[in-house]
This record gives sequence, C-alpha cells and structure tokens, in this order.
Amino acid sequence: MPKSDLDRQIHLNIEENVPLAPFTSFRVGGPARFLIGVRTLRELQEALRFAERMKLPFCILGGGSNLLVSDAGFPGVVIRLLMNRVTRSGGMVQVQAGFDLTALVHRTVGWGLSGLESLAGIPGTVGGAVRGNAGAYGGAMADVLATVSALDAGTLQPLTLRRDQCAFAYRDSRFKREPGLIVVGALLALTPGDRGEIGSKVAETLAKREAKQLSCDRSAGSFFMNPMVDDAVLIRRFEEDQGVRCRECRIPAGWLIDQAGLRSLKVGGAAVSHRHANYLVNTGAATAAEVVELARLVKKEVQVKLGVVLKEEVSPVGLVI
Ligand SMILES: Cc1cc2nc3c(=O)[nH]c(=O)nc-3n(C[C@H](O)[C@H](O)[C@H](O)COP(=O)(O)OP(=O)(O)OC[C@H]3O[C@@H](n4cnc5c(N)ncnc54)[C@H](O)[C@@H]3O)c2cc1C
Repeated sequence: MPKSDLDRQIHLNIEENVPLAPFTSFRVGGPARFLIGVRTLRELQEALRFAERMKLPFCILGGGSNLLVSDAGFPGVVIRLLMNRVTRSGGMVQVQAGFDLTALVHRTVGWGLSGLESLAGIPGTVGGAVRGNAGAYGGAMADVLATVSALDAGTLQPLTLRRDQCAFAYRDSRFKREPGLIVVGALLALTPGDRGEIGSKVAETLAKREAKQLSCDRSAGSFFMNPMVDDAVLIRRFEEDQGVRCRECRIPAGWLIDQAGLRSLKVGGAAVSHRHANYLVNTGAATAAEVVELARLVKKEVQVKLGVVLKEEVSPVGLVI
C-alpha cells in the first residue's frame, strides 16, 4: 500500500438515499441507501467496514455502463471506485480500477503502446472491464493482463492474481463469479509500436463502432451475451445471411433477436433498439421492471422461435433477472 494512503486519515464521504439512475448509462433505477466514493485502497477497506458495521450488503459501482438497477434501488452500500492513477514502465502499464477504459486506450496511443486498440470506445472503467472481460472485434481485456490487484472483501486483504488465476473466459472471470473479490488495479503487458499505426487502429475501431451506432445512450450496451449455438442449420443461416464465419460457434444475440422479429419491440418506455437489436434502450422514462419484462419477452421469443437460450450480460443491482 502506498505510504501516502497509510498516512492519510480516513474520512469517508457517505451520502444517503442517492438516486443511482444518473450513475448508470441506462438512466434507470432507484436510490442507494448509502453511496460512498473511494479514492484509495484504505478508503475502500473503510467503506467495506462501514457496510459490515451497518450489517448491509455492498455493491461495487464502476462507470455504470453495464448495470440495471432495480426501481427500488439498492438497500445497502454502493461503493463507487474512483481511484484512477496510471503509471508506465516500458511496455508495462499499472492502472487503478477507476480509470476510464477509453481514456486508457488514448493514453497508450500517446505512449506508443499496442494491445488495447480493439477496446477503444467501450464505456466504463478498467475494473469493470477486467471483471466482465470486456471486449470487441476479437480482442478482450484479459488478452493484455499480466496480473490483477484485488481486495478480498471478506478479509480486507489485498492480493495479486496472475492472469491464469483469474478464470477469464468470454465476458466472464473469477471476479464475476466471486463478487467478494474487488478489482482494484491491473498490470497490463503492452507491446511498444509505432504511435501513428496504433492511433490509426484506434481510429478504425471507433469508426466501426460509430458506423454501427454502438454509442447510443440510455442502454447498457449488449444486454445479452452472444450464445454458443450447436444447431448447424442456424449457424449456416447466420453465415449465409452475414457473409462471415461463425466464431467459436457464437452467434451474435442481436442477429438472433432480429431473426425472431423483435426489433423495436416495446414494453412501456423500454424498447429493443431499432439500430442494434441486442441493445435494450430506455426511450425516456423506462422503469427497471419494464426493462426486465422486455428482456423476459425477448428471451422467450428467441427460445420459442430459434431454440436458443439467451443469457444476460448486463449486471443486475437489487434485482434478479
Ligand atoms: C453504449 C455501450 C457500448 C458497450 N459496448 C461494449 C463492448 O463493445 N464490449 C463490452 O464488453 N462491453 C460493452 N459495453 C458494456 C460495458 O461498457 C462493459 O461491460 C464495461 O466493462 C463495464 O464497466 P463499468 O466500469 O461501467 O462497470 P459497471 O457497469 O459499473 O459494473 C458492472 C458490474 O461490474 C462490477 N464491477 C465494476 N467495477 C468492479 C471492480 N473494480 N471490481 C469488481 N467488480 C466490479 C459491478 O459491481 C457490476 O456488477 C457497452 C456499454 C454501453 C453502454
């Protein structure tokens, strides 16, 4: 732990009954009983002690770009990770969990370091991206991770995990399965390269996202994960329709939702985006209950019409989906 953290007297800024919707890209959901923004490991430990003393559950908030918060909110302590230091030594980049992922991509372009280009434009923090192994265009966060620094919420002990100890898989990790392990930082192993070339790749990624309108707001991005499909007829139909080979037998959930005829389906203020069928969007004043009902309908229809079971990528807070 840095000495400056030890020396500092811990004074938490604890806010009560704070609406969570503004902290999420969906702009949906009720209040947190308590909200605490933490800037150091010690503050995080103190926030966890506070939750323990109050006998309340806790939940970690990063950039809020993959969350669906219940209309009733969260009856516990929401801890917002704000630690955002980044340092570089050669190709190794040490970054804290609260650092914005896209800002990190741009920072590494400036340093002439390659490895994060395909992640440009993914909203949220480094911590959220590690936990969900965020990715796009064939790349994912885990590809560049050397180690992950975490805090065990049970013992309050920090630990460092090698990449092979983190059980990374498609949009999955040990941190997702063990919510008591909080990601506080990451050491990335990047490759020195030509700044201009790296910058061009980042620009290409951003242009591809822009063309697909992947930045539309009031959503949590892809609501469902791309499922593994073993139906050879469906795979062939997808490949012929899209003119691409199916990667690892995963078919984009958006294509399946589209094929099921659900583009623009609505429940109250929640709708399947007409631009990207795997984006469920809040058209204005959607409630979480409406989003959940829309997701349920989408899953049911895709299963009935195409025989595929969709699984949520989005993280629920204060509700079960
Ligand atoms: C327009 C749009 C486009 C998107 N495009 C993509 C894409 O191309 N690829 C992709 O993979 N995702 C995409 N997403 C989803 C989202 O950006 C990612 O899942 C992102 O990594 C979430 O990070 P976050 O900091 O916002 O996490 P949050 O939404 O704050 O949290 C998500 C979950 O992670 C947990 N969490 C957050 N930080 C930590 C931490 N430090 N330690 C432990 N748990 C933590 C939270 O408790 C919660 O369960 C998109 C979202 C939007 C809105």
